[in-house]
Amino acid sequence: MNCTLENREALIEAYLLRKLSETETEAFEHHFFGCRECAEELSVRRQLIEALKTEKSVRAAETPVSRLLRGRSTYWPYLAAAALVIGMILLPRLFNSQAPEIRVENFAENSQLESFLEQNVKNPAFSLTVLSPQTGENLQGKIVFAWEASHHDESYTGHLDLVIMNNQRTDVLRKTVQGGRFQLESKLIPGRYYWTLEYQNETVHVGKFFVGKPQE
Ligand SMILES: [Zn+2]
Repeated sequence: MNCTLENREALIEAYLLRKLSETETEAFEHHFFGCRECAEELSVRRQLIEALKTEKSVRAAETPVSRLLRGRSTYWPYLAAAALVIGMILLPRLFNSQAPEIRVENFAENSQLESFLEQNVKNPAFSLTVLSPQTGENLQGKIVFAWEASHHDESYTGHLDLVIMNNQRTDVLRKTVQGGRFQLESKLIPGRYYWTLEYQNETVHVGKFFVGKPQE
């Protein structure tokens, strides 16, 4: 048996608060005498309202001291609930800051960039040895990029452009580095990364590394 009454909840509430007109009241009473769902709902709500009324009158009769003594036991469930909610919001954030979420898609291969790997130094006048990170290395914490480069051309100043990309080939960082060493201060989210060294807009190295790669 299902009640087909529309705005049932609102009707019951209005009835209990005596907000219905005489005809509306009669019509609703006529309905709920024959509707078990409405009758039950009505009874539950009536009890709720009675309980609230009793609670109010008990409080009104209390002295300030007894209210204060009661206060703790009255409010601690609310405080506990609030603490629980705050904890549920804050805890995952704290957890995330220590161990960021590992997303499988961030580790996917970029076949285009993958094909450039190890195709170092097309320029015969340029000599480059990459010290860090090693190709495919799994890194944690601060990442150090280091290389030794020399050029037969005297105009070479020792500046190379370092580009770090995620597996979507989106630049994470682009920086001109002098002296063959750069330490990345910002933390990268777990994933597969590629990095290149460019000399005068010519790519002289493509490498890859992982951050926080799970053990297989
Ligand atoms: Zn009904």
